[in-house]
Amino acid sequence: MSFTPPVNAIGYLLRHGVDLDAIGETGSFEETPPDLLDAILGGAADFARDVIAPTNWDGDQHPATLDDGNVTASPGFKDAYHQFVEGAWQTVSLPTAIGGMGLPSVVSVATNEMLYSANMAFGLCPMLTSSAIKAIEAHASDALKDTYLPKMLAGEWTGAMCLTEPQAGSDLGPVRTKAEDNGDGTYAITGQKIYITWGDHDCADNIIHLVLARLPDSPDGSRGISLFICPKFLVNDDGSLSERNDFRPIGLEHKLGIHGSPTCVMEFNQATGYLVGEVNRGLASMFVMMNEARLFVGVQGVAIGERAYQAALDYAQERVQGVPPGAEVGAPIIDHPDVRRMLIDMKAKLMGARSICLATAEAGDLGAHGREGLLTPIAKAYGSDVGVDVASIGVQVHGGMGYVEETGAAQHYRDSRIAPIYEGTNGIQAIDLIGRKLRRDGGEAMGELITELRDTAASISDISGEMDVDLSVCAAAMDRSLETLSTATDIILNASEVDALGVATTYLELCAKVIGGSLLARAVARGVAAGDSQSAAMASLARYHALRIMPTASGLLDAIRAGSSAVYDFPRDQLADL
Ligand SMILES: Cc1cc2nc3c(=O)[nH]c(=O)nc-3n(C[C@H](O)[C@H](O)[C@H](O)COP(=O)(O)OP(=O)(O)OC[C@H]3O[C@@H](n4cnc5c(N)ncnc54)[C@H](O)[C@@H]3O)c2cc1C
Repeated sequence: MSFTPPVNAIGYLLRHGVDLDAIGETGSFEETPPDLLDAILGGAADFARDVIAPTNWDGDQHPATLDDGNVTASPGFKDAYHQFVEGAWQTVSLPTAIGGMGLPSVVSVATNEMLYSANMAFGLCPMLTSSAIKAIEAHASDALKDTYLPKMLAGEWTGAMCLTEPQAGSDLGPVRTKAEDNGDGTYAITGQKIYITWGDHDCADNIIHLVLARLPDSPDGSRGISLFICPKFLVNDDGSLSERNDFRPIGLEHKLGIHGSPTCVMEFNQATGYLVGEVNRGLASMFVMMNEARLFVGVQGVAIGERAYQAALDYAQERVQGVPPGAEVGAPIIDHPDVRRMLIDMKAKLMGARSICLATAEAGDLGAHGREGLLTPIAKAYGSDVGVDVASIGVQVHGGMGYVEETGAAQHYRDSRIAPIYEGTNGIQAIDLIGRKLRRDGGEAMGELITELRDTAASISDISGEMDVDLSVCAAAMDRSLETLSTATDIILNASEVDALGVATTYLELCAKVIGGSLLARAVARGVAAGDSQSAAMASLARYHALRIMPTASGLLDAIRAGSSAVYDFPRDQLADL
C-alpha cells in the first residue's frame, strides 16, 4: 500500500497546462520561479508520502470515537496533524496579507492532491479549514478576522462547515436552526446539524464552526438564512481560550468509506454565535467557502484515483495468470491487452480530470471569474466521478484480491464514493452548469472556451519537434469533439427547462471529456515546444484520450438530442411495476 506522489505528472501539468507567467503578471501572488515550484512540490510529496500516507490504513480500520461529547481522532492523526501545522501546509495559497504564503491556487491544487492521495479522510480537515478561512476573510468583521484568522491560518484551530440538517440537504432553504439576538452583539444558536465533517476532534485546540441559521423574523426559504461563527471554545479578549461553547457532537456516522474522517451529528443548545456578513445573506457568504470546496472535492477524486492507479499498476506487474499474447510463460498480467487497457484508461482519465481542476484554479488565479464559474461544477463532478470510476477499475485489475480488503484497493473504492455526493451532489453540479453557468450568460463563457480550444487544435496538428511527437490524432479529435460540444451547447441553450434538466448530467460528462482531452493535448503541445523530455509519454496519454475517450462525445450528443423524452416516456407510477 505504498504511495509515490505523482510529482512528474502534476509538475508537467503545472509547467505546461497552466500559464504560470500570466498568473505571475497579475501581481496578485508571490512569484513561483521553477526552483521554488520544484521545492514546494518536492516538500509536499515527502510530507504526503512519509507522514500522512502511513496513517491511511489505520484511519480506515480504526475510525474516530465519541465519548461524552468529545471525539478522539484515529490513531496517528493527531501527531500527523501537528506535523502538518509545523510545515505550515495550511497557508500555501492563502494571501500574504493575512499571513499566508501567497502562492496561486494552482499550487495548492497540486500540493493538496498529494495530501488527499495520502489520506483523503485526513485531508478533509485542512480542506474545510481553508474554505472557512476564505469565507471569514471575505465576509466577517475586522474584529472577527483578528480573533480567528491567525490561529486558523497557523492550523492551531480548524474549521468546520455546518449547513446540512435532516430536512435540508441539497436544498438549504428549509434550514431550521434558530438564531436569536442576545442584544450584546452575539446570537444564541439552537438546532441540530447532521453529517458535519471533522465537527469535533482532538487534533487542534479549537474548532471554528460556520453555521447557517435563521433569525425569527427572517423570510422563509434561502433568503432568510444567516451565517454565524460558533467556536468550540469561546475566545477571551486577549485571544486565550475560555469555556466550552454550548454545542456538542451527539453521534458519529458509520460510513461506507473515509472512516478516518469524523462525521458528526452536532447539537447546538443556545450556543454563542457571531454574525458573519449581513443578516439573511448567509448563503451568499457561504458560496465563497463552497466554491473552493467544490474544486477541492474534484481534486480529491483525482487524488484517490491516483492512489488506486498506483496500487493497480503494482499488482499488475506482479500477478501471473495465463499467457499474454506474444509473451513468455510467467509473464505478469500487465501484458494482457485488456489489463493494459484498464491501466492506461485509468491514467488518461486522471490526467484529463487533473487538467480540468488545474484550469479551474488557473481561471480563479487570473481573475477570469466567468471561466472559473463555468469550470467549477465540471471539475467537481467529473473529478469525483473519475475518482469512483478509476477506483472501480483498480478493484477490477486486482481481480478477487480487489474485493477483499487486504490489498487496499477496496478502501480506495469505498473512500471515493462520497465525493460525488457531498459539496453539492453531482446532479446539482450539472444543474448549476446548465443553469447559472450556461443559460444565464447565453453561453458566452462556454463559447469563449470552445473558440480558444479550437484555435489550439489548429496549432498543434503539425507539432512534432525534436521529440518526434505526433499530436495529429489529438488535433483531429479536438476538431470533431469541439464541434460536438458546440452543437450540444446550442441544444441546451435552446431547450425547454425539463429537456435541459433531463440531460444536464449527460451534458456535463460531454463537456468534461472534450475539455479534459483538449487541455491535456494543449499541455503536451506546449511541453513539446518547451523541449520537455516527458512529453513523449504524455503524448501517449493525450492520444489515448483522443482515440478512446473524446469520441464518446458523439454518443452523448445523441442522448442530449433526445432531450428528456427517454426519461419521461416511462410513466412514473409504473416504475415499481416492471
Ligand atoms: C460523509 C459526509 C460528509 C458530509 N460533510 C458535510 C459537512 O461537513 N457539512 C455539511 O453541512 N454537510 C455535509 N454533508 C452533507 C452533504 O453535503 C449532503 O449529503 C449533500 O449535499 C446531499 O444532501 P442530502 O444528503 O440531503 O441528499 P438529497 O438532497 O436528499 O438528495 C438525494 C438525491 O436527490 C437529488 N436531488 C436533490 N435535489 C435535487 C434537485 N433539485 N434536482 C435534481 N436532483 C436533486 C440529489 O442529486 C441526490 O441524488 C456530508 C455528507 C456526508 C455523507
